[in-house]
Amino acid sequence: MKKQDQSTHFETAAIRTQLDRSQYAEHSTPLYLTSGFTFDDAEEMRASFAEEKERNIYSRFTNPNTSEFVEKVCKMEGAEAGYAFATGMSAVFSTLAALLNSGDHVLSARAIFGSSHTLFTTFLPKWNIKTSFFNSDGLDQLEDLVQPTTKIIYAESPTNPGVEILDLQRLGDFAKKHGLLLVIDNCFATPYLQQPIQFGADLVIHSATKLMDGQGRVLGGVTVGAADLIRTIYLFSRNTGPALSPFNAWVLSKSLETLAVRVDRHCENAITVAEFLEGHAAVDWVKYPFLRSHPQYEIAIKQMKAGGNIIAFQVNGGIKAGQNFLNALTCCSLSANLGDTKTIVTHPASTTHSKLPEQDRLAVGISDGLVRVSVGLEHPDDIINDLQQALAKI
Ligand SMILES: *Cc1c(COP(=O)(O)O)cnc(C)c1O
Repeated sequence: MKKQDQSTHFETAAIRTQLDRSQYAEHSTPLYLTSGFTFDDAEEMRASFAEEKERNIYSRFTNPNTSEFVEKVCKMEGAEAGYAFATGMSAVFSTLAALLNSGDHVLSARAIFGSSHTLFTTFLPKWNIKTSFFNSDGLDQLEDLVQPTTKIIYAESPTNPGVEILDLQRLGDFAKKHGLLLVIDNCFATPYLQQPIQFGADLVIHSATKLMDGQGRVLGGVTVGAADLIRTIYLFSRNTGPALSPFNAWVLSKSLETLAVRVDRHCENAITVAEFLEGHAAVDWVKYPFLRSHPQYEIAIKQMKAGGNIIAFQVNGGIKAGQNFLNALTCCSLSANLGDTKTIVTHPASTTHSKLPEQDRLAVGISDGLVRVSVGLEHPDDIINDLQQALAKI
């Protein structure tokens, strides 16, 4: 039996948090590709179902691979407990559905992931759950929007795709003052750059599909936070079935071993690309959290270790210029994903947000010429050269 590892650093926890080894003493965690687990006798089975004994029963509830992945994320976020989901959206939906009751009210940031926004506006109202939205720079409005039935404050920072920053400490203080649960989608930052629980978040959600996998291979999601809340989310999820597959959990747990080094390089490349864009004549403005020109720069440097890998910028010339720019790219990919080793460029106004009325689109900072770049791990000179030659063709 190996001595208990006393290491406390993020990078070490990401690599050394592991399941007990099997009789083969394998170094890398094996893949437990099994739907169920067996019992020695009826009494063991009874005790397991009665939760008198902590053990795996069925992979919809828990599986060794998903447990290892969840434990790593808990250590990274400073959380007590967690549950892993098939996608980021199943994490968002299950977390909200487990905690909210008919008649409850949610205060949500306006600038959130598109499907999360649709969940609040289109689906949660079916169960009589209403949402009021606030602007990223309008936290002063919160006092006016809070209702006796408000239960949850929901936000992302940095936001997708506008890369706005919300003051997590202010949100945490407000939630505490009003006895609300603060739920933060921490996908863009990853726990390596920002740990919302330090600022008062009760629950932290990730789409593990993005930087956690970081290589564009699998879908996954995870929610971590206070043990009593996770218990509610777990009971909901073990019955409704959004569980992460053991295979994807195995991939994701392996990916977390390199999260810190990957994200360091993503951020280094991103600031280099952001500085290049900021100096380009065909670019109206650039938003990147660690550029001094970012409107919430002071908040970003207070709550994040580095600026992340997403840049928003506006090419001059509107929708057509945005599309011309995308058409001229030869190295960067046009794809809906983000947080990949490969640099990905999107034009939200003509794609993900094209169905939004112009007024609503502009309200969340998505102008006609807005381009979102998810900076990858290619050599920064190659990324910049590609952007430069494409900007020359708008
Ligand atoms: C992608 C994304 C999600 C949804 O994750 P999926 O894994 O695609 O379901 C949620 N929040 C943010 C901020 C995202 O970028």
